[in-house]
Amino acid sequence: MGYAVIDWLQRDRQDPQITLGTISLPIVLRRHAKARRLTLRLAPDGSEVRITMPSWARTADALDFAKSRQEWLATQHAKIPPRERPGPGSILSYRGRQVQVEWQDGHPRNPALTNGVLQVGGPLSSLERRLRQWLERSALSLFENDARNYCDLAGIDCPPIALSRAQKRWGSCSDRQRIRLNWRLVQAPDCVRRSVVAHEVAHLIHFDHSPAFHALLDHLFEGEVTQADRWLKDNGRKLYTHFG
Ligand SMILES: [Zn+2]
Repeated sequence: MGYAVIDWLQRDRQDPQITLGTISLPIVLRRHAKARRLTLRLAPDGSEVRITMPSWARTADALDFAKSRQEWLATQHAKIPPRERPGPGSILSYRGRQVQVEWQDGHPRNPALTNGVLQVGGPLSSLERRLRQWLERSALSLFENDARNYCDLAGIDCPPIALSRAQKRWGSCSDRQRIRLNWRLVQAPDCVRRSVVAHEVAHLIHFDHSPAFHALLDHLFEGEVTQADRWLKDNGRKLYTHFG
């Protein structure tokens, strides 16, 4: 369970713009019946500024609000790590360890991890896709193991696991029928990835964040939930550096 699902795609294409230094970003406005005031944030990938506003608020007020926060937005934008597309010699993070991509003609097309080196051959044009797919396959099998482990502990059947490519959420289990997990977690240390899986498994029993939910999560997860949460808060955005 995460944030309310907001479909940012359903919007007017003629978005107003805001200038932050040398870049210009679209301002995406969304009116919300339950909103009591204007709230503004930068999209996690830095691609747009999002303002949620009460249904009675005026567009002009929202734009003025964005303008008044221009400096703050520029500071936030500067903090987003720049995208570094993976290629030969790149250092990727895999289960919290640094692995170097060794691209050579004689190496297999499917990446193979050998002594901390990710050996891969094949065409350069599809290298990024093949690296991502390797990480995704690995993510799925790790998630399935983690989930089976926690479902056994909780005494419940393990639902199917699906990978998500969400820009912000790490996991969700909106219908109790299936757990969705962000594939990028395969780059994080094992205990961080496992804490997210344990969180979603606990939601199969408690569909809220009640004390009972937290008690179950503490029981299931072998590590410190607060430490794992802290790691994600501090480092989560870095998991988007190579593959967006
Ligand atoms: Zn939750």
